[in-house]
Amino acid sequence: MIQPDSLQRVAVFGATGSIGASALDVIARHPDTMRASVLAAGSKVGELVELCRAHRPEHAVIADEGRFAALRDGLRDAGLQTQAHAGCEALDSLAAGDACDSVVAAIVGAAGLSSTLAAARGGKRLLLANKESLVLAGELLMRAARGAGATIVPIDSEHNALFQCMAACDDPAAVSRITLTASGGPFRGHGRAELADVAPAQAIAHPKWSMGPKISVDSATLMNKGLEVIEAHHLFGLPAERIRVLVHPQSLVHAIVDFVDGSSLAQLGLPDMRTALAVGLGWPRRIASGVAALDLLAQGAKLEFEAPDLDAFPCLALAWRALAAGGTAPAALNAANEEAVSAFLQGRIGFLSIPDTVAATLDAMPVQHADSLDALLAADTQARSVARSRIGRAH
Ligand code: NAD
Ligand code: MG
Repeated sequence: MIQPDSLQRVAVFGATGSIGASALDVIARHPDTMRASVLAAGSKVGELVELCRAHRPEHAVIADEGRFAALRDGLRDAGLQTQAHAGCEALDSLAAGDACDSVVAAIVGAAGLSSTLAAARGGKRLLLANKESLVLAGELLMRAARGAGATIVPIDSEHNALFQCMAACDDPAAVSRITLTASGGPFRGHGRAELADVAPAQAIAHPKWSMGPKISVDSATLMNKGLEVIEAHHLFGLPAERIRVLVHPQSLVHAIVDFVDGSSLAQLGLPDMRTALAVGLGWPRRIASGVAALDLLAQGAKLEFEAPDLDAFPCLALAWRALAAGGTAPAALNAANEEAVSAFLQGRIGFLSIPDTVAATLDAMPVQHADSLDALLAADTQARSVARSRIGRAH
Protein backbone atom coordinates (compact mmCIF):
# COMPACT_ATOMS: atom_id res chain seq x y z
CA MET A 1 0.00 0.00 0.00
CA ILE A 2 1.41 3.37 -0.97
CA GLN A 3 1.35 5.87 1.87
CA PRO A 4 -0.14 9.15 0.62
CA ASP A 5 2.86 11.24 1.61
CA SER A 6 5.74 8.91 0.82
CA LEU A 7 7.69 8.86 -2.41
CA GLN A 8 6.17 6.28 -4.75
CA ARG A 9 8.87 4.12 -6.37
CA VAL A 10 7.74 2.98 -9.79
CA ALA A 11 9.14 0.13 -11.90
CA VAL A 12 8.54 0.70 -15.61
CA PHE A 13 8.69 -2.56 -17.56
CA GLY A 14 8.73 -1.91 -21.30
CA ALA A 15 10.38 1.46 -20.59
CA THR A 16 11.62 1.92 -24.18
CA GLY A 17 8.13 1.45 -25.64
CA SER A 18 5.21 3.76 -26.27
CA ILE A 19 3.50 3.20 -22.90
CA GLY A 20 6.88 3.28 -21.15
CA ALA A 21 7.59 6.74 -22.62
CA SER A 22 4.17 8.03 -21.54
CA ALA A 23 4.65 6.63 -18.02
CA LEU A 24 8.07 8.26 -17.66
CA ASP A 25 6.65 11.55 -18.92
CA VAL A 26 3.98 11.56 -16.18
CA ILE A 27 6.41 10.39 -13.46
CA ALA A 28 8.86 13.19 -14.35
CA ARG A 29 6.10 15.76 -13.80
CA HIS A 30 5.84 14.77 -10.11
CA PRO A 31 9.37 14.64 -8.69
CA ASP A 32 8.13 15.35 -5.16
CA THR A 33 5.83 12.35 -4.99
CA MET A 34 7.20 9.65 -7.30
CA ARG A 35 10.26 8.47 -9.16
CA ALA A 36 11.25 5.65 -11.53
CA SER A 37 13.26 3.16 -9.46
CA VAL A 38 13.50 0.30 -12.00
CA LEU A 39 13.59 0.55 -15.79
CA ALA A 40 13.37 -2.56 -17.98
CA ALA A 41 13.46 -3.19 -21.72
CA GLY A 42 13.67 -6.12 -24.12
CA SER A 43 16.90 -5.66 -26.06
CA LYS A 44 17.55 -1.98 -26.84
CA VAL A 45 20.48 -1.25 -24.52
CA GLY A 46 21.36 2.17 -25.96
CA GLU A 47 17.83 3.49 -25.44
CA LEU A 48 17.67 2.00 -21.94
CA VAL A 49 20.94 3.67 -20.92
CA GLU A 50 19.65 7.01 -22.22
CA LEU A 51 16.49 6.60 -20.12
CA CYS A 52 18.64 5.78 -17.09
CA ARG A 53 20.63 8.96 -17.71
CA ALA A 54 17.41 10.97 -17.67
CA HIS A 55 15.59 9.22 -14.80
CA ARG A 56 18.40 7.84 -12.58
CA PRO A 57 16.75 4.58 -11.44
CA GLU A 58 18.48 2.25 -8.96
CA HIS A 59 18.06 -0.74 -11.28
CA ALA A 60 18.00 -1.35 -15.03
CA VAL A 61 17.09 -4.70 -16.58
CA ILE A 62 17.57 -5.92 -20.11
CA ALA A 63 15.51 -9.04 -20.82
CA ASP A 64 17.94 -10.31 -23.45
CA GLU A 65 20.67 -11.94 -21.33
CA GLY A 66 23.20 -11.64 -24.15
CA ARG A 67 23.05 -7.84 -23.74
CA PHE A 68 24.04 -7.79 -20.06
CA ALA A 69 27.66 -6.73 -20.59
CA ALA A 70 26.57 -3.97 -22.98
CA LEU A 71 24.13 -2.65 -20.38
CA ARG A 72 26.64 -2.83 -17.52
CA ASP A 73 29.35 -1.10 -19.57
CA GLY A 74 26.91 1.48 -20.96
CA LEU A 75 25.76 2.45 -17.47
CA ARG A 76 29.34 2.64 -16.23
CA ASP A 77 30.49 4.74 -19.19
CA ALA A 78 27.59 7.11 -18.55
CA GLY A 79 28.85 7.53 -14.97
CA LEU A 80 25.61 6.15 -13.50
CA GLN A 81 25.15 4.28 -10.21
CA THR A 82 22.27 2.26 -11.71
CA GLN A 83 22.75 -1.45 -11.14
CA ALA A 84 22.58 -3.63 -14.29
CA HIS A 85 20.55 -6.86 -14.48
CA ALA A 86 19.53 -9.21 -17.29
CA GLY A 87 17.01 -11.95 -17.92
CA CYS A 88 13.49 -12.89 -16.94
CA GLU A 89 14.32 -13.93 -13.39
CA ALA A 90 15.74 -10.49 -12.68
CA LEU A 91 12.54 -8.94 -14.06
CA ASP A 92 10.40 -11.14 -11.82
CA SER A 93 12.38 -10.57 -8.65
CA LEU A 94 12.55 -6.80 -9.14
CA ALA A 95 8.80 -6.69 -9.88
CA ALA A 96 8.01 -8.52 -6.64
CA GLY A 97 10.78 -7.19 -4.39
CA ASP A 98 11.54 -4.10 -2.34
CA ALA A 99 12.81 -1.92 -5.20
CA CYS A 100 9.34 -0.63 -6.13
CA ASP A 101 5.85 0.10 -4.82
CA SER A 102 4.17 0.16 -8.24
CA VAL A 103 4.81 -1.64 -11.50
CA VAL A 104 3.88 -0.32 -14.94
CA ALA A 105 3.45 -3.61 -16.84
CA ALA A 106 4.05 -2.43 -20.41
CA ILE A 107 6.01 -5.26 -22.01
CA VAL A 108 4.30 -6.27 -25.25
CA GLY A 109 2.83 -9.77 -25.65
CA ALA A 110 2.86 -12.97 -23.62
CA ALA A 111 6.50 -12.17 -22.75
CA GLY A 112 5.05 -9.84 -20.11
CA LEU A 113 3.10 -12.50 -18.23
CA SER A 114 5.76 -13.69 -15.82
CA SER A 115 6.77 -10.26 -14.47
CA THR A 116 3.13 -9.14 -14.36
CA LEU A 117 2.25 -12.18 -12.25
CA ALA A 118 5.28 -11.54 -10.05
CA ALA A 119 4.12 -7.96 -9.41
CA ALA A 120 0.61 -9.21 -8.56
CA ARG A 121 2.00 -11.83 -6.20
CA GLY A 122 4.21 -9.17 -4.63
CA GLY A 123 1.08 -7.16 -3.75
CA LYS A 124 2.15 -4.17 -5.84
CA ARG A 125 0.02 -1.48 -7.35
CA LEU A 126 -0.12 -2.93 -10.85
CA LEU A 127 -0.62 -0.50 -13.71
CA LEU A 128 -1.58 -3.12 -16.24
CA ALA A 129 -1.03 -2.23 -19.90
CA ASN A 130 0.06 -5.73 -20.92
CA LYS A 131 -3.42 -6.96 -21.88
CA GLU A 132 -2.02 -10.18 -23.37
CA SER A 133 -1.26 -11.46 -19.85
CA LEU A 134 -4.95 -11.09 -18.92
CA VAL A 135 -6.04 -12.84 -22.12
CA LEU A 136 -3.58 -15.66 -21.54
CA ALA A 137 -4.02 -16.14 -17.80
CA GLY A 138 -6.77 -13.80 -16.62
CA GLU A 139 -8.18 -15.98 -13.86
CA LEU A 140 -4.77 -16.82 -12.42
CA LEU A 141 -3.65 -13.22 -12.55
CA MET A 142 -6.80 -11.85 -10.91
CA ARG A 143 -6.63 -14.53 -8.22
CA ALA A 144 -2.95 -13.78 -7.54
CA ALA A 145 -3.72 -10.06 -7.22
CA ARG A 146 -6.65 -10.67 -4.87
CA GLY A 147 -4.62 -13.11 -2.78
CA ALA A 148 -1.73 -10.68 -2.31
CA GLY A 149 -3.84 -7.52 -1.97
CA ALA A 150 -2.44 -6.03 -5.19
CA THR A 151 -4.43 -3.17 -6.71
CA ILE A 152 -4.81 -3.46 -10.47
CA VAL A 153 -5.38 -0.22 -12.36
CA PRO A 154 -5.96 -1.01 -16.04
CA ILE A 155 -3.81 1.01 -18.43
CA ASP A 156 -5.89 0.48 -21.51
CA SER A 157 -7.91 3.58 -22.31
CA GLU A 158 -11.25 1.74 -22.34
CA HIS A 159 -10.64 -0.27 -19.18
CA ASN A 160 -9.16 2.69 -17.40
CA ALA A 161 -12.35 4.54 -18.36
CA LEU A 162 -14.45 1.68 -16.94
CA PHE A 163 -12.33 1.68 -13.77
CA GLN A 164 -13.08 5.39 -13.34
CA CYS A 165 -16.81 5.02 -14.10
CA MET A 166 -17.16 2.11 -11.67
CA ALA A 167 -15.04 3.63 -8.93
CA ALA A 168 -18.06 4.43 -6.81
CA CYS A 169 -19.70 1.04 -7.34
CA ASP A 170 -18.02 -2.27 -6.60
CA ASP A 171 -21.14 -4.42 -7.13
CA PRO A 172 -20.96 -6.17 -10.54
CA ALA A 173 -24.70 -6.89 -10.26
CA ALA A 174 -25.40 -3.14 -10.47
CA VAL A 175 -23.85 -3.02 -13.93
CA SER A 176 -26.18 -4.14 -16.70
CA ARG A 177 -23.72 -3.64 -19.55
CA ILE A 178 -20.38 -2.11 -20.43
CA THR A 179 -19.42 -0.69 -23.82
CA LEU A 180 -15.87 -0.58 -25.12
CA THR A 181 -15.37 1.88 -27.92
CA ALA A 182 -13.08 1.24 -30.89
CA SER A 183 -11.72 3.86 -33.27
CA GLY A 184 -12.14 1.36 -36.11
CA GLY A 185 -8.44 1.66 -36.99
CA PRO A 186 -6.95 2.79 -40.31
CA PHE A 187 -9.22 0.52 -42.39
CA ARG A 188 -12.62 1.50 -41.00
CA GLY A 189 -15.19 1.36 -43.80
CA HIS A 190 -13.07 -0.96 -45.96
CA GLY A 191 -14.64 -4.21 -47.18
CA ARG A 192 -12.84 -7.54 -46.86
CA ALA A 193 -11.70 -7.54 -50.51
CA GLU A 194 -9.96 -4.18 -50.11
CA LEU A 195 -7.90 -5.51 -47.21
CA ALA A 196 -6.10 -8.28 -49.09
CA ASP A 197 -3.11 -6.20 -50.20
CA VAL A 198 -2.62 -3.68 -47.40
CA ALA A 199 1.01 -3.21 -46.35
CA PRO A 200 2.37 -3.20 -42.77
CA ALA A 201 3.11 0.55 -43.01
CA GLN A 202 -0.59 1.23 -43.74
CA ALA A 203 -1.72 -1.04 -40.91
CA ILE A 204 0.43 0.66 -38.28
CA ALA A 205 -0.60 4.19 -39.29
CA HIS A 206 -3.33 4.51 -36.66
CA PRO A 207 -5.64 7.50 -37.18
CA LYS A 208 -5.98 8.45 -33.48
CA TRP A 209 -3.41 6.77 -31.24
CA SER A 210 0.38 6.59 -31.43
CA MET A 211 1.32 3.08 -30.24
CA GLY A 212 3.82 0.23 -30.69
CA PRO A 213 3.66 -1.84 -33.92
CA LYS A 214 1.97 -4.96 -32.50
CA ILE A 215 -1.01 -3.20 -30.91
CA SER A 216 -1.30 -0.96 -33.98
CA VAL A 217 -1.77 -4.02 -36.21
CA ASP A 218 -4.19 -5.45 -33.62
CA SER A 219 -6.17 -2.21 -33.87
CA ALA A 220 -6.26 -2.49 -37.67
CA THR A 221 -7.63 -6.09 -37.53
CA LEU A 222 -9.90 -5.29 -34.52
CA MET A 223 -8.17 -8.12 -32.65
CA ASN A 224 -7.18 -5.43 -30.18
CA LYS A 225 -10.85 -4.93 -29.33
CA GLY A 226 -11.31 -8.69 -29.11
CA LEU A 227 -8.44 -8.95 -26.63
CA GLU A 228 -10.01 -6.06 -24.75
CA VAL A 229 -13.37 -7.85 -24.45
CA ILE A 230 -11.56 -10.76 -22.76
CA GLU A 231 -9.55 -8.28 -20.67
CA ALA A 232 -12.76 -6.57 -19.50
CA HIS A 233 -14.35 -9.92 -18.65
CA HIS A 234 -11.52 -10.68 -16.23
CA LEU A 235 -11.02 -7.21 -14.81
CA PHE A 236 -14.68 -6.52 -14.07
CA GLY A 237 -16.08 -10.03 -13.61
CA LEU A 238 -18.73 -9.60 -16.31
CA PRO A 239 -19.99 -12.30 -18.69
CA ALA A 240 -19.49 -11.84 -22.44
CA GLU A 241 -23.14 -11.01 -23.07
CA ARG A 242 -22.85 -7.90 -20.90
CA ILE A 243 -19.88 -6.55 -22.88
CA ARG A 244 -20.53 -4.60 -26.09
CA VAL A 245 -18.24 -3.04 -28.68
CA LEU A 246 -19.11 0.11 -30.61
CA VAL A 247 -16.99 1.81 -33.25
CA HIS A 248 -16.54 5.48 -32.34
CA PRO A 249 -14.23 7.14 -34.88
CA GLN A 250 -13.54 10.28 -32.82
CA SER A 251 -11.93 8.23 -29.99
CA LEU A 252 -13.09 10.73 -27.36
CA VAL A 253 -15.58 8.53 -25.44
CA HIS A 254 -13.45 5.63 -24.21
CA ALA A 255 -16.09 3.46 -22.54
CA ILE A 256 -19.63 3.53 -21.16
CA VAL A 257 -21.12 1.76 -18.14
CA ASP A 258 -24.88 1.15 -18.06
CA PHE A 259 -26.24 0.62 -14.55
CA VAL A 260 -29.44 -1.27 -13.65
CA ASP A 261 -31.16 1.99 -12.69
CA GLY A 262 -31.02 3.32 -16.26
CA SER A 263 -28.06 5.59 -15.66
CA SER A 264 -25.07 5.43 -18.00
CA LEU A 265 -21.64 6.85 -17.14
CA ALA A 266 -19.01 7.49 -19.78
CA GLN A 267 -15.44 8.74 -19.57
CA LEU A 268 -14.16 11.19 -22.18
CA GLY A 269 -10.74 12.59 -22.94
CA LEU A 270 -8.26 13.20 -25.71
CA PRO A 271 -6.64 10.01 -27.00
CA ASP A 272 -3.40 10.18 -24.99
CA MET A 273 -2.35 7.33 -22.67
CA ARG A 274 -0.82 9.74 -20.17
CA THR A 275 -4.32 10.29 -18.76
CA ALA A 276 -4.73 6.59 -17.93
CA LEU A 277 -1.20 6.48 -16.51
CA ALA A 278 -1.84 9.52 -14.31
CA VAL A 279 -4.99 7.81 -13.01
CA GLY A 280 -2.92 4.71 -12.22
CA LEU A 281 -0.05 6.60 -10.60
CA GLY A 282 -2.14 9.04 -8.61
CA TRP A 283 -5.28 7.09 -7.69
CA PRO A 284 -7.38 7.95 -5.75
CA ARG A 285 -5.92 11.39 -6.30
CA ARG A 286 -6.10 13.21 -9.60
CA ILE A 287 -2.70 14.41 -10.79
CA ALA A 288 -1.52 16.40 -13.81
CA SER A 289 -0.66 14.30 -16.85
CA GLY A 290 0.33 16.88 -19.45
CA VAL A 291 -2.82 16.09 -21.45
CA ALA A 292 -4.94 19.10 -22.39
CA ALA A 293 -8.57 19.27 -21.28
CA LEU A 294 -11.12 18.06 -23.81
CA ASP A 295 -12.74 20.87 -25.77
CA LEU A 296 -15.66 19.27 -27.56
CA LEU A 297 -16.31 22.29 -29.75
CA ALA A 298 -12.71 22.34 -30.95
CA GLN A 299 -13.04 18.61 -31.70
CA GLY A 300 -15.96 19.28 -34.04
CA ALA A 301 -18.65 18.57 -31.42
CA LYS A 302 -19.52 15.34 -33.17
CA LEU A 303 -19.66 11.97 -31.45
CA GLU A 304 -20.57 9.08 -33.79
CA PHE A 305 -21.13 5.42 -32.98
CA GLU A 306 -21.62 2.42 -35.27
CA ALA A 307 -21.61 -1.37 -35.03
CA PRO A 308 -18.33 -3.14 -35.91
CA ASP A 309 -18.13 -4.91 -39.29
CA LEU A 310 -17.42 -8.52 -38.31
CA ASP A 311 -17.21 -9.67 -41.92
CA ALA A 312 -14.29 -7.38 -42.79
CA PHE A 313 -12.76 -7.76 -39.32
CA PRO A 314 -13.34 -11.37 -38.21
CA CYS A 315 -10.72 -11.18 -35.45
CA LEU A 316 -13.27 -9.59 -33.14
CA ALA A 317 -15.66 -12.52 -33.65
CA LEU A 318 -12.79 -14.96 -33.09
CA ALA A 319 -12.09 -13.40 -29.71
CA TRP A 320 -15.76 -13.70 -28.71
CA ARG A 321 -15.58 -17.33 -29.80
CA ALA A 322 -12.47 -17.97 -27.68
CA LEU A 323 -14.04 -16.30 -24.67
CA ALA A 324 -17.18 -18.43 -25.04
CA ALA A 325 -15.09 -21.61 -25.40
CA GLY A 326 -13.10 -20.70 -22.26
CA GLY A 327 -10.29 -22.86 -20.86
CA THR A 328 -7.16 -22.66 -22.98
CA ALA A 329 -8.92 -21.09 -26.02
CA PRO A 330 -8.05 -17.44 -25.22
CA ALA A 331 -4.40 -18.43 -24.68
CA ALA A 332 -4.40 -20.13 -28.10
CA LEU A 333 -6.09 -17.11 -29.70
CA ASN A 334 -3.47 -14.76 -28.25
CA ALA A 335 -0.48 -16.92 -29.19
CA ALA A 336 -1.67 -17.50 -32.77
CA ASN A 337 -2.33 -13.79 -33.13
CA GLU A 338 1.15 -12.84 -31.88
CA GLU A 339 2.72 -15.21 -34.40
CA ALA A 340 0.52 -14.00 -37.25
CA VAL A 341 1.08 -10.30 -36.50
CA SER A 342 4.83 -10.84 -36.33
CA ALA A 343 4.76 -12.65 -39.72
CA PHE A 344 2.63 -9.87 -41.21
CA LEU A 345 5.01 -7.17 -39.93
CA GLN A 346 7.90 -9.09 -41.52
CA GLY A 347 6.04 -9.14 -44.85
CA ARG A 348 5.69 -12.93 -44.76
CA ILE A 349 1.88 -13.11 -44.88
CA GLY A 350 -0.94 -10.83 -46.00
CA PHE A 351 -3.31 -8.93 -43.72
CA LEU A 352 -6.20 -11.38 -44.21
CA SER A 353 -3.94 -14.29 -43.25
CA ILE A 354 -3.94 -12.92 -39.68
CA PRO A 355 -7.56 -13.93 -38.95
CA ASP A 356 -7.16 -17.05 -41.11
CA THR A 357 -4.17 -18.18 -39.02
CA VAL A 358 -5.96 -17.51 -35.74
CA ALA A 359 -9.13 -19.32 -36.89
CA ALA A 360 -7.17 -22.34 -38.14
CA THR A 361 -5.27 -22.52 -34.84
CA LEU A 362 -8.48 -22.38 -32.79
CA ASP A 363 -9.96 -25.10 -35.04
CA ALA A 364 -6.92 -27.33 -34.57
CA MET A 365 -6.60 -27.00 -30.80
CA PRO A 366 -8.84 -28.92 -28.41
CA VAL A 367 -10.02 -26.70 -25.56
CA GLN A 368 -8.63 -27.82 -22.22
CA HIS A 369 -9.06 -26.71 -18.62
CA ALA A 370 -6.97 -23.67 -17.79
CA ASP A 371 -6.50 -24.48 -14.14
CA SER A 372 -2.72 -24.10 -13.99
CA LEU A 373 -0.09 -21.82 -15.41
CA ASP A 374 1.61 -24.87 -16.92
CA ALA A 375 -1.55 -25.80 -18.85
CA LEU A 376 -1.84 -22.25 -20.19
CA LEU A 377 1.82 -22.03 -21.17
CA ALA A 378 1.57 -25.42 -22.88
CA ALA A 379 -1.43 -24.16 -24.87
CA ASP A 380 0.53 -21.02 -25.76
CA THR A 381 3.47 -23.12 -27.02
CA GLN A 382 1.27 -25.52 -28.96
CA ALA A 383 -0.74 -22.70 -30.56
CA ARG A 384 2.47 -20.97 -31.68
CA SER A 385 3.65 -24.15 -33.33
CA VAL A 386 0.29 -24.72 -35.09
CA ALA A 387 0.22 -21.10 -36.24
CA ARG A 388 3.85 -21.15 -37.43
CA SER A 389 3.34 -24.26 -39.51
CA ARG A 390 0.29 -22.69 -41.12
CA ILE A 391 2.22 -19.46 -41.76
CA GLY A 392 5.06 -21.53 -43.25
CA ARG A 393 2.62 -23.23 -45.64
CA ALA A 394 1.02 -19.91 -46.65
CA HIS A 395 4.42 -18.42 -47.45
P1 NAD B 1 5.99 -1.08 -27.75
O1 NAD B 1 6.30 -2.05 -28.83
O2 NAD B 1 6.07 0.38 -28.04
O3 NAD B 1 6.93 -1.36 -26.47
C1 NAD B 1 7.11 -2.66 -25.98
C2 NAD B 1 8.12 -2.68 -24.84
O4 NAD B 1 8.26 -4.04 -24.41
C3 NAD B 1 9.51 -2.19 -25.22
O5 NAD B 1 10.06 -1.46 -24.16
C4 NAD B 1 10.31 -3.49 -25.40
O6 NAD B 1 11.68 -3.35 -25.11
C5 NAD B 1 9.65 -4.38 -24.36
N1 NAD B 1 9.79 -5.81 -24.65
C6 NAD B 1 9.49 -6.43 -25.83
N2 NAD B 1 9.73 -7.76 -25.71
C7 NAD B 1 10.19 -7.96 -24.45
C8 NAD B 1 10.60 -9.11 -23.72
N3 NAD B 1 10.62 -10.33 -24.29
N4 NAD B 1 10.97 -8.95 -22.44
C9 NAD B 1 10.98 -7.73 -21.87
N5 NAD B 1 10.60 -6.60 -22.50
C10 NAD B 1 10.21 -6.72 -23.78
O7 NAD B 1 4.53 -1.45 -27.21
P2 NAD B 1 3.43 -0.51 -26.52
O8 NAD B 1 2.58 0.10 -27.56
O9 NAD B 1 4.07 0.38 -25.51
O10 NAD B 1 2.52 -1.60 -25.79
C11 NAD B 1 2.93 -2.24 -24.59
C12 NAD B 1 1.76 -3.00 -24.00
O11 NAD B 1 0.75 -2.05 -23.63
C13 NAD B 1 1.09 -3.97 -24.97
O12 NAD B 1 0.64 -5.09 -24.27
C14 NAD B 1 -0.10 -3.19 -25.49
O13 NAD B 1 -1.18 -4.02 -25.89
C15 NAD B 1 -0.47 -2.37 -24.27
N6 NAD B 1 -1.20 -1.13 -24.57
C16 NAD B 1 -0.57 -0.16 -25.30
C17 NAD B 1 -1.25 1.01 -25.61
C18 NAD B 1 -0.59 2.13 -26.34
O14 NAD B 1 -1.18 3.21 -26.48
N7 NAD B 1 0.64 1.98 -26.83
C19 NAD B 1 -2.59 1.16 -25.18
C20 NAD B 1 -3.19 0.14 -24.46
C21 NAD B 1 -2.48 -1.00 -24.15
MG1 MG C 1 -7.47 0.05 -25.70
